[in-house]
Amino acid sequence: EPEAAAPAARPRISVRGLTKTYHTRRGEVAALRGVSMDVAEGEIMVLLGPSGCGKTTLLRCVAGLEHPDSGEIVVNDRTAFSSAERVSLPPERRDLSMVFQSYALWPHMTVFDNVAYPLRTTKVAKAEVRERVHGVLDTVGLEKYAASYPGQLSGGQQQRVALARALVTNQGVILFDEPLSNLDAKVRERLRDELLGLQRDIGFTALYVTHDQTEATGLGDRIAVMEVGSVAQLGSPTDIYYTPSSRYVADFVGSANELHGSVKELTGGHVLVETPVGPLLGSTTATLTPGQPVRVLFRPEHCRVTAGPEGQNRLQCRVERSMFLGSHVEYLLSAAGERLVLKTMEREILAPGSEVGVCLDPAMARVFPAE
Ligand code: ATP
Repeated sequence: EPEAAAPAARPRISVRGLTKTYHTRRGEVAALRGVSMDVAEGEIMVLLGPSGCGKTTLLRCVAGLEHPDSGEIVVNDRTAFSSAERVSLPPERRDLSMVFQSYALWPHMTVFDNVAYPLRTTKVAKAEVRERVHGVLDTVGLEKYAASYPGQLSGGQQQRVALARALVTNQGVILFDEPLSNLDAKVRERLRDELLGLQRDIGFTALYVTHDQTEATGLGDRIAVMEVGSVAQLGSPTDIYYTPSSRYVADFVGSANELHGSVKELTGGHVLVETPVGPLLGSTTATLTPGQPVRVLFRPEHCRVTAGPEGQNRLQCRVERSMFLGSHVEYLLSAAGERLVLKTMEREILAPGSEVGVCLDPAMARVFPAE
């Protein structure tokens, strides 16, 4: 399993065993339940998960805006927080910068002054401020807007100002808190691509919070999928998509069909599962025994539909409905009381009532122990 294999580059952010419980009038909320991860130099690590899973809490703990209960945070080889050593550096001493949802630019300040702001709050000499601000504006391609105000800029340019301000202090570690979430889909897509381009040019290290799976797979070198205060799976976008560790992960990055069954036979790295629809060969990372109840997950886009009798690892189904969606056709199929969704790029559309076979590559059918 290639899961969670950390890149060789040295970590710029290390989080170990982080816990955080909020005490509210309605009781206790365990927002982080022991989270560990390393973000390597030059890497974009995305924190992905539904609302309330703890992404923002983790980001704010790393930033120093929130105080964890226990664990350790190291940024650029310096301990920023350690419950054991009783260390907790204030945000301004953590060698990182943050880019917020709304970019948090000062509307009454010019682009130059917005970017210069973090330098002016420390004691950097005037001439050096000028030099560094112009340098970083040049890097993000905004030199000629130095005297403009944020309101005169496009969304993309504002994002670049926010990024320039994060880069000007030269720390190279940037925390992003859903920076694109307030924008409409088209703009978001463009800004995502632009951000990725800038990251590849400049090479900063990022911890990036989003609940948008496309943003996560498009931007992330690795993704940490979070589930109620824990990391459910950490890996590259392809690891997470092709070998999800659970139904939760499979459903969060893409979608999945699920069949219940029991293990019939274990054969050379594969598992033969008896399902209500028929026997199905799948693969697993779990240790299974014959007779054990299991679930088989497979993605709608990983099935091949065939109207003929041929095909290996084949389930016999009936077409209930088809929907032409331009880039592909989506079928709703039924078999032995089960409903399956299937996507295909075949041009011929099968009519409702047709008997079809669904063929599955055993590598794409993931078998998990039933809970
Ligand atoms: P979202 O995308 O909605 O921000 P999230 O994944 O970032 O969600 P968090 O904001 O980290 O999740 O919240 C994790 C849990 O902690 C939630 O149950 C939330 O209600 C709770 N929580 C967060 N901040 C506080 C706070 N200041 N006081 C009390 N509870 C909080």
